[in-house]
Amino acid sequence: AVPLVVARSTAISAKSGLLIKDRTAFENSRKISTLVFDKTGTLTRGEFNVVRFESLDYIYSKEQILNLAASLEGNSEHPIATGIIRKSKELNQKPMLLENFKAITGKGIEATVDGKDIKVVSPGYLRENTLDVDVKSSQAETIVFIVINNKVAGFVALADEVRPESAEAIRILRSQNIKTLLLTGDNKEVAKTVSDSLAMDGFIAEVLPHQKLEKIKELQSKGEFVAMTGDGVNDAPALAQADVGIAVGSGSDIAAETSDIVLVNSNPRDVANLILFGKATYRKMI
Ligand code: ADP
Ligand code: MG
Repeated sequence: AVPLVVARSTAISAKSGLLIKDRTAFENSRKISTLVFDKTGTLTRGEFNVVRFESLDYIYSKEQILNLAASLEGNSEHPIATGIIRKSKELNQKPMLLENFKAITGKGIEATVDGKDIKVVSPGYLRENTLDVDVKSSQAETIVFIVINNKVAGFVALADEVRPESAEAIRILRSQNIKTLLLTGDNKEVAKTVSDSLAMDGFIAEVLPHQKLEKIKELQSKGEFVAMTGDGVNDAPALAQADVGIAVGSGSDIAAETSDIVLVNSNPRDVANLILFGKATYRKMI
């Protein structure tokens, strides 16, 4: 039988935006010592808008660079893709025909257009492949580079917004002595800006999907009781590994399936509710 006090709390939780799939995880929520947050779609809205786009060579115009990027992104479901396609449509561009599309996991996408190899990739990908580029961004922008036949030909810079409720979530977790960590595939500048603006304890940028899982394991091996909050397909392994896995409701089905608790309103503030309710519930029982 379910203790009455737990039954009541689970009902309260539904009103508070929490869908508790695993009662043990709810019970364990009071033990959480570190809470790891995915960035895009979790602490931020996950809605990218193109801020600027430029050509870095003399052959292609900046419009052609955007057009190429948008053509490839037509095959991707990443929030970056949605932002680039929206901008391209606003400029009445038509997608170009492409062949051999493939994803470069956690780094970008690639295809053949007009016999040329085109990639839309992260700054980390350029560094790893020693493709030199002279773009210094002072702002915290998510930048993707357009690479044509292994030469950097241009870039698109995008911006996403921090969810207004994120700051309060972090503040409450801090008041409960829970360390907060940002984990993202995005670049360091963006990660640092978001982490600093929310006064989080730290950030790890340019992580690949399997590295999210490894980071959770590493924290656990140091004795931390770890919760993970994320929305993406790439967060699912980390959500499963965490002692408490919390999925954002608006995220992918796979994230929701692998998690113990779902934030039905996609509101990071409800993570703080989880901690507060968990502590209140089990304090009454003991
Ligand atoms: P996140 O943690 O932000 O969800 P991802 O692992 O999905 O990170 O992506 C990491 C990085 O890889 C992005 O910031 C971007 O630079 C690049 N990337 C991933 N998918 C795409 C795509 N469809 N188009 C362009 N770049 C992409
Ligand atoms: Mg995400």
